[in-house]
Amino acid sequence: MRTLKYDIVVVGGRLGGSTASLFASKSDVDVLMIEKRQEIGSPVQCAEGVTYGTFETLEMKPSERYVRSRIKGAHIYSPDRRRITYEGGIAEGLVIDRKIFDKDLAIESARAGTDIMIKTNVKDLIIENHKVCGVVAKHLGKTIEIRSDVVIGADGVESNMARQAGIETYKNPKKICSCAQYELVGIDVDPEYLEFYFGEKIAPQGYLWIFPKGDGVANVGVGIRSSIHTAITYLNRYVSKLDATPVELNIGGVPVSGPIKQTYTDGFLVVGDAAGQVDPITGGGIHTTISCARIAGEVAAESVKREDNSSEFLRDYQDKWRKEIGENLDKSVMYRNMADKLNDDDMNALAEFIETQDLEAISKISVLKFVGKHPNLMKVLTELL
Ligand SMILES: Cc1cc2nc3c(=O)[nH]c(=O)nc-3n(C[C@H](O)[C@H](O)[C@H](O)COP(=O)(O)OP(=O)(O)OC[C@H]3O[C@@H](n4cnc5c(N)ncnc54)[C@H](O)[C@@H]3O)c2cc1C
Repeated sequence: MRTLKYDIVVVGGRLGGSTASLFASKSDVDVLMIEKRQEIGSPVQCAEGVTYGTFETLEMKPSERYVRSRIKGAHIYSPDRRRITYEGGIAEGLVIDRKIFDKDLAIESARAGTDIMIKTNVKDLIIENHKVCGVVAKHLGKTIEIRSDVVIGADGVESNMARQAGIETYKNPKKICSCAQYELVGIDVDPEYLEFYFGEKIAPQGYLWIFPKGDGVANVGVGIRSSIHTAITYLNRYVSKLDATPVELNIGGVPVSGPIKQTYTDGFLVVGDAAGQVDPITGGGIHTTISCARIAGEVAAESVKREDNSSEFLRDYQDKWRKEIGENLDKSVMYRNMADKLNDDDMNALAEFIETQDLEAISKISVLKFVGKHPNLMKVLTELL
């Protein structure tokens, strides 16, 4: 069996993997990133909406090579099709081509010094004396043992690296939002606005999205958490009413119950979807993954330099990412749990209320009058306002 040695091994070669390896390599340590697929970035499992903050974290300018549309805001539709429009803030951003973006990020990481193995499947962690100290991988039928001081698991929602390291991940499929999405051609949408549709019939405990990619192309998808039907059934139902042609279908899961409790152990860190670092309200995981993976790469590199890969040292990763985004994710979990209690009538009433208010100058009296008529919404609104 071939044996290799690196300071850091990163399992998974998409956003989490490329970002962690990029920032570890920038810190001048030997890094290997391993991706089981033959091409980095493909297949896409994403609606491809990103915030500008993502690029600030990466210290990069978004490239015209992958920017498909610039987004000013979002139209949100209640079950009875009232439209609420948000502009600016987190509703502002880009729709990108992730096949190009993900590969560009891997290229940047390689340029910074990361070695990359593609079509290489990590089968097992090497664990000795309760400490992770490498991986066993298969490449074209051959087994390779790769020893390292730190392994970073960036292996996505179906992660089994974290589980092997003894970290508790998701067991309950209800904590995963099932998604199906077409890239459609010939769709008539506003190229500067994302669209979100809510309702039991359209996407139970989830939403339908339309993310424009310019020139009459858009990602149209459905994410659901509870239903007797699959996400693709709801998607096909919606898409059958459009005169548009699919050029791509993506199916995937998003962890929406908030981050896992512990994201480190001796010789091991876990990032991105594998760690549940996704906004549970929006299902957006690009920016959160990139923020956390950057920290993971930097902390792992520091642990190599200090020759301390103990869980006590690596805990710094969790402390830092929690400081950066932990509070927002916790709040999002709370809002998501509240939103889960709303039925279509509640959402329609809420949309009607918001539609008729100046949100900047909303008064307690108007809220009280409203919840007086809709007691089901009392808790939600008092928490929100
Ligand atoms: C339908 C859908 C739409 C979404 N839309 C958006 C959006 O618009 N905006 C947004 O911000 N977020 C969105 N997300 C979430 C976002 O895509 C993810 O949060 C993000 O891609 C997570 O990146 P990651 O690197 O952690 O995991 P992944 O992208 O899942 O990458 C994991 C990588 O690890 C590799 N791998 C797994 N196991 C092994 C192994 N044993 N050996 C080697 N390699 C392995 C996989 O092949 C994969 O390449 C969406 C998700 C879905 C499913």
